[in-house]
Amino acid sequence: MSNAWGIPEWLEREVRERDKFCVYCGVELLESVPRGCSRKNVATWEHIINDAGIITRENIALCCSSCNSSKGTKILSDWLNSQYCKNNGIDKETVAPIIQKQF
Ligand SMILES: [Zn+2]
Repeated sequence: MSNAWGIPEWLEREVRERDKFCVYCGVELLESVPRGCSRKNVATWEHIINDAGIITRENIALCCSSCNSSKGTKILSDWLNSQYCKNNGIDKETVAPIIQKQF
């Protein structure tokens, strides 16, 4: 069994348990959008290295949809220099440990 992103159920459970907060900006993640609220804090699947073929606990993480749409297909280190990250105070020191391991 795996979800729509090809992530096996055991890994999905493990990552959901680990990433309660966006791995990038640290916002508390929501499972679904509360009525009348914005989607930006909803948990989305993120491939840290943007390769859908790398399905490991080191490369799969949960981040908010706002960070996910900003990062898109950018390389992590490039994205951390983006205006979005500057505006939100996101850098190598503020991201989750799973992301810091990339450096
Ligand atoms: Zn975020």
